[in-house]
Amino acid sequence: MKCPFCANADTQVVDSRVSEEGDTIRRRRRCLACDKRFTTYERVELAMPTVVKRDGSRSEYDTGKLRGSLTLALRKRPVSTEEVDGAVARIEETLLGSGLREVPSEQIGELVMNELRRLDKVAYVRFASVYKSFEDIGEFVEAIREMQGPRRPASAKLRKD
Ligand SMILES: [Zn+2]
Repeated sequence: MKCPFCANADTQVVDSRVSEEGDTIRRRRRCLACDKRFTTYERVELAMPTVVKRDGSRSEYDTGKLRGSLTLALRKRPVSTEEVDGAVARIEETLLGSGLREVPSEQIGELVMNELRRLDKVAYVRFASVYKSFEDIGEFVEAIREMQGPRRPASAKLRKD
């Protein structure tokens, strides 16, 4: 850690203390060149990776989108809200645990498919058959909404069950 006063690279930690919440370490440092003191903070960075779509565009990770796509795939299926919560939590833990700054949207789709495969076969097939042809789960959500919406033409091949 460089000294902010003289930019000297050699500094000494004179005191370290963990915050009450246990999530931050505060370090008191002394510059070995100019003898000035300064404080640094160290905290764990847990941030969801940015989602990279197939066309290369980026968007912020959106937990609502993830939950929405699971919920829509599971529409009218015998799967409880707790189970959906569990699936969302596992997917987010995987993403956080990866330490990645960016993640391709396909990879999130794969995680969703893994969860659906375990939860409900019908929902899995629903998601897998539709998802592959879309840019991201947001588009999947819109497509399912259209399929299930009231303006669905009578001749539509995709039926809600
Ligand atoms: Zn200094």
